[in-house]
Amino acid sequence: MYAYRFDLNEREPVTATAFLCYDKDEAPTGDYVKFLVKELKRFLAELGPIESVEDKFRRQPLSDGTTMSLCYGCGERVAQSEDIGEIELAESTHECQLGLN
Ligand SMILES: [Zn+2]
Repeated sequence: MYAYRFDLNEREPVTATAFLCYDKDEAPTGDYVKFLVKELKRFLAELGPIESVEDKFRRQPLSDGTTMSLCYGCGERVAQSEDIGEIELAESTHECQLGLN
């Protein structure tokens, strides 16, 4: 099973379409829905735990119109900006001193 992401610049959570293909001789016999559920579960298990940005950084809007991003791992202020792209960049490049992020 594969998932295809349509827009690479899309913000999380991204939408993706899952599709399943198999050889003719591996076609499911019996309950097709159960077969799909089993394949979907296996696919999701292979992806591993899904972490979102919210789990790693706390974004706090400030009275001056900027947003401050704090790392939950080390407590460091990672970014403070009006530009969300700048904050996302700082978060994605943050090398956490405590190695938690
Ligand atoms: Zn950190």
